[in-house]
Amino acid sequence: DPILEVKNLSASTDNLPILKGVSLTVYPGEIHAIMGRNGCGKSTLSKIIAGHPSYNITNGDIKFLGENINSLEPEARSQSGIFLGFQYPIEIPGVSNLEFLRVSTNARRKFLNKEELDTFDFEELVKEKLEIVKMDQAFLSRSVNQGFSGGEKKRNEILQMALLEPKIAILDETDSGLDIDALRIVASGIKKISNAQTGIILITHYQRLLDEIKPNYVHVMSDGQIIKTGESDLALELEKKGYEWTDNFIKET
Ligand code: ADP
Ligand code: MG
Ligand code: MG
Repeated sequence: DPILEVKNLSASTDNLPILKGVSLTVYPGEIHAIMGRNGCGKSTLSKIIAGHPSYNITNGDIKFLGENINSLEPEARSQSGIFLGFQYPIEIPGVSNLEFLRVSTNARRKFLNKEELDTFDFEELVKEKLEIVKMDQAFLSRSVNQGFSGGEKKRNEILQMALLEPKIAILDETDSGLDIDALRIVASGIKKISNAQTGIILITHYQRLLDEIKPNYVHVMSDGQIIKTGESDLALELEKKGYEWTDNFIKET
């Protein structure tokens, strides 16, 4: 059965239509890449799947593990296993990264009927996971993302994902602004958490991430629609051709 089923989804913000009939089905173990010009609606799609309150679904459905989640609160989505790594991770001054990660991890564990972890036990768990993203323990005692470099913020998101063990992970331009070493670390972190039960959606502009993590499907978005779906070689084609052809593309049916 699919993990995620987006069916004919249209959505708007302030009565401005942004998504115009997106359909996307992700089965366990699959990796999907979503590509497309700036402003085509990639981040909006990911935020709507995560339950961002700024958008209204005007048509269509989002099903997660067979249940319609159109009106589920974002916290409940996250606890039930939907993870969104943001294009621009937020900074939370005054909240230690360790505590932030512990609270979100415990909320997820509670949903999974696993025991909640106190600070001591959580530190043990998080130290294991720090290895995956090659982060220093010092990052745990700092405020969430505050003063983190772009690459450190992205690695911190992969750390959070590793702790939450989501059913579906949507990574929005996690590779943007990363140097080659950071990209490899992030890519290997994603690979380590990916497994036969988990679905992954990678939103990216770059082939270099997809060289590290080969997607099963590549979707091209334009003006709030998925206009083309192919296999991994479609990403190579996009790199050659650019996005201009997508602007007035008539959707293949
Ligand atoms: P992408 O991630 O593909 O670059 P976005 O999903 O961020 O694109 O944006 C798609 C379009 O929707 C853009 O034109 C953007 O300006 C618009 N948009 C997104 N969110 C909002 C919002 N909260 N208010 C107004 N316009 C928005
Ligand atoms: Mg963009
Ligand atoms: Mg975006």
